Amino acid sequence: MENQVFSDLKIENMHILDAAETRSPCPKCGRSRKYFCYTCFVAVGLLQGRIPLVKLPIKVDIIKHPNERDGKSTACHAAVLANDDVTIYTFPCIPEYDRNEVILVFPGEDAVSLETLIQDQSTCGTENVNSDLNSTSEDAPKIAVHKKDDSTNNSIEHPSIGSSEENRVSDSCSRNTDVRKRKHGLDNADRQYSSIESDELDRDGAPEERVNAEPVAKKTKTKPMPTFSKVVFIDSTWKQSKTIFQDERLTDLRRVELKRHKTNFWRSQDSRPDTYLSTIEAVYYFLCDYHRLFVEEEYDGQYDNLLFFFTYMCNKIKFSNPKGKFK
Ligand SMILES: [Zn+2]
Repeated sequence: MENQVFSDLKIENMHILDAAETRSPCPKCGRSRKYFCYTCFVAVGLLQGRIPLVKLPIKVDIIKHPNERDGKSTACHAAVLANDDVTIYTFPCIPEYDRNEVILVFPGEDAVSLETLIQDQSTCGTENVNSDLNSTSEDAPKIAVHKKDDSTNNSIEHPSIGSSEENRVSDSCSRNTDVRKRKHGLDNADRQYSSIESDELDRDGAPEERVNAEPVAKKTKTKPMPTFSKVVFIDSTWKQSKTIFQDERLTDLRRVELKRHKTNFWRSQDSRPDTYLSTIEAVYYFLCDYHRLFVEEEYDGQYDNLLFFFTYMCNKIKFSNPKGKFK
């Protein structure tokens, strides 16, 4: 038999999902759901109290496009499995982010790797980055940082899309604090977390080389302090994500792009390269990188359960429906 998807990860036993094939009412809203409620972000039926819960090292916001269909988003997985740390917003109801506290994961000309972001800040002597990451540019991953004189696809020359309208919406959103937990589905493979070529799928790729000038003992004790407390992802098709990205509340944020990873997303096919990650994959890989950079050198599967539902669904598709359709 073929290998299972993500078989090397530390993911809780998924047999409980086999037993939860029938729909159950959501304990919060009462709507009929399978596995979990994608509106309330809670497990339903047999799964209540029996799914793994993941504690994240950083707060995560996911911004969804309003036209995405409910129930199809893998962003929901993050909100269900890491409910304390993940908030999903439906555009244009998004917060006013503080550039000093928030980074955006979004590929493109101005995006850099997380390691490069840290090194740049360290070089500039800003904030609280530890000096042990003052590595030279030769150590930095070869991801170019271009200025935006290339007026290409994601250009942010037009950051004022409907600003007055958005302010109005934003104000109304602020009166409804529960909007932070609203979400809508997503349905296709046009994920924007791509942009990077891929040649392997693994949990490695950590920048061990980056600190190679430091003694081992120091490496394990001294980690850089992140200069942000929240990371934002955009969950939508590529075309839709550009609309969101061009919102002035996001254009000023520091941008990070992910390393090379190959998606296991069951809707990833057609003309899209297999490096177009689903949202839950993007969140997962970012957190793995974050962990190695800021928490401890060795990643030991702390966030693997974020892929609890995703892995189950991938394997179900892979072994029961070769056409890749997930009902
Ligand atoms: Zn519900």
